[in-house]
Amino acid sequence: PYDVLVVGGGPAGAAAAIYAARKGIRTGLVAERFGGQVMDTVGIENFISVPYTEGPKLAASLEQHVKEYGVDIITDQRAAGIGKGELLEVPLASGATLKSRSVILATGARWRELNVPGEAEYRTRGVAYCPHCDGPFFKGKRVAVVGGGNSGIEAAIDLAGIVEHVTVLEFADTLRADEVLQRKARAMGNIEIITNAQTTEVVGDGSKVTGMKYTDRVSGDSRLLELAGIFVQIGLVPNTEFLKGSEVELTRFGEVMIDTRGATSMNGVFAAGDATTVPYKQIIISMGAGATAALSAFDHLIRS
Ligand code: FAD
Repeated sequence: PYDVLVVGGGPAGAAAAIYAARKGIRTGLVAERFGGQVMDTVGIENFISVPYTEGPKLAASLEQHVKEYGVDIITDQRAAGIGKGELLEVPLASGATLKSRSVILATGARWRELNVPGEAEYRTRGVAYCPHCDGPFFKGKRVAVVGGGNSGIEAAIDLAGIVEHVTVLEFADTLRADEVLQRKARAMGNIEIITNAQTTEVVGDGSKVTGMKYTDRVSGDSRLLELAGIFVQIGLVPNTEFLKGSEVELTRFGEVMIDTRGATSMNGVFAAGDATTVPYKQIIISMGAGATAALSAFDHLIRS
């Protein structure tokens, strides 16, 4: 059995594994895909002290750093639950079960996609999901934000300070964002809000996004917006389906509930990164959270 078993191999899981292994305790890391969302990222400009890097390069450095320690890395395996016998048990989809004295959950999240033609083709070539990450790439250009919830309107306000113009497209007939955010957005001169808009296609010139088509759900007319970028803000879904029904408490959005030390509601189980209730989902924040969870797991082990 392990002393610490990390589930997930993104920035949170990698940081947790390194911090745990540096305590000289038996550390395992199981992940479907090492690198996590970082593998889907092109330019990264906010990983502090590294002015520019690219996702696959950062993911390779993460893996190399973890491999400098005696971490038992198991990839291409999916955790299917969490339970407790004498030790904590993590059953895998393959049928095997991993046992450990403590567990750190770092399974991350995925952006909900529009599922319209062109979206996958132009992902990272105009289709973006993170305004903190990619907003500055669209300086002085016209962009759209799809989604009129809190994250969509926050993104629009954020982007409006950088880009020339923001069009918000909301499927419903009203915005779901908090009134205070809506007021702020409406007061900005370069944000236009269109409700009853069903996005139907991401349009591009073969190398980058040039626009977006949507249907006006009231008139039934199809319209084309000319744009350089599209920010999809229709939800971030935590990869925590496998924890449903376990002792690990989730919010109604599926986020693992953690305290400031990264502890979950299940004894000996800690969590970090995008899969949790941590505010703001970013690489640097996930890494810090992974370190916190590992130190808390170590603290738990020396007390039990
Ligand atoms: P993830 O990176 O999501 O990693 C989760 C890990 O868990 C993966 O290894 C996955 O395979 C594994 N996993 C999931 N489910 C299971 C399971 N059941 N069993 C086993 N393993 C499992 N942030 C920035 O700071 N700057 C940026 O420029 C930036 N750009 C981004 C661009 C894109 C396109 C995307 C999608 C995200 C971007 N982010 C950026 C956000 C950043 O990538 C995330 O905040 C960060 O990766 C979260 O780290 P994590 O370790 O919590 O989760």
